[in-house]
Amino acid sequence: MSLLSVIVPCYNEEVAIPFFYDAMKTVKDRFATDHPEVDFEYIFVDDGSTDKTADVIKKLREDDKSVHFVSFSRNFGKEAALYAGFKKAAGDLVVCMDADLQDPPALLDEMYRAITEEGYDSAATRRVTRKGEPKIRSAFARMFYRIMNRISDVEFVDGARDYRIMTRKMVDAILELGENNRFTKGIYSWVGFKTKWIEFENVERVAGETKWSFFGLLRYSFEAILGFSTAPLSFVITLGFIVTAMAFLLIIFIIVKTLIYGDPTSGWPSMICIIVFFAGTQLLCTGIVGAYLGKTYLETKNRPIFITREEE
Ligand code: UDP
Ligand code: MG
Repeated sequence: MSLLSVIVPCYNEEVAIPFFYDAMKTVKDRFATDHPEVDFEYIFVDDGSTDKTADVIKKLREDDKSVHFVSFSRNFGKEAALYAGFKKAAGDLVVCMDADLQDPPALLDEMYRAITEEGYDSAATRRVTRKGEPKIRSAFARMFYRIMNRISDVEFVDGARDYRIMTRKMVDAILELGENNRFTKGIYSWVGFKTKWIEFENVERVAGETKWSFFGLLRYSFEAILGFSTAPLSFVITLGFIVTAMAFLLIIFIIVKTLIYGDPTSGWPSMICIIVFFAGTQLLCTGIVGAYLGKTYLETKNRPIFITREEE
């Protein structure tokens, strides 16, 4: 027998969870005939929901003891919820799925076979369309992945979901990365392992609404950059070099010009522009360095990634 843990991060998903549970029942039944060696367990992580999510999960647990849950003391974010799920999961195989059915449960069979029959350590999914998403958001997302792949050592796959099945070995590796600034997609790539990519068409959420605002996503992308690349710091150094070289050339130019034409006072407006310009660049660069410093500060506090209010 082998155990498959299904981790489901939930933040205000009271309406979506029953749909999810039903959809998973169908998958479970299919597994019971195709792969009778597999047992399922659910790890619902209630990420400080303010609606009845916790009650809905507890209700499921009353009839089905393979349902487990962790309830957070407040909203810690999906990344923390996934971490808590990984920690609690006892399975030989672990899969993460959103509660809103945007991660199609029907793919599970193929994902499972990738590990058991094709020798992969992990099977990941990516959506190849972004149907039903605002155009501007898709454009920014694509730009983000392009930039990220240039400035980071780990691979970022466009459209990659957190929906992924993996072996116990990979889960343990992920748990070893105890950082607070968690960008799970980056962590998945960072730990490596042989991964099969499975593509699917975007599905809209079954009920409820997305927790992501445009600015939320923008912040999320900055987290990813700070967590997985130090390229902005190199950018600061390069910029420093360029500006210093420019200043040097300018000094030579002014000395030569003064020697030939004398020194009539002029050029105040341009001087102000230059001062303002460089004050701006300096602030920007200090800000970039500060952003890394801030992250370092938060990491050194070594705070727990989540706090449990209740679990079963
Ligand atoms: N989620 C969470 N904590 C949060 C935000 C979201 O656990 O702070 C969960 C949410 O309940 C869902 C999954 O993460 O199961 C994906 O969230 P959502 O559907 O809002 O994101 P989208 O699919 O729009 O990217
Ligand atoms: Mg969703």
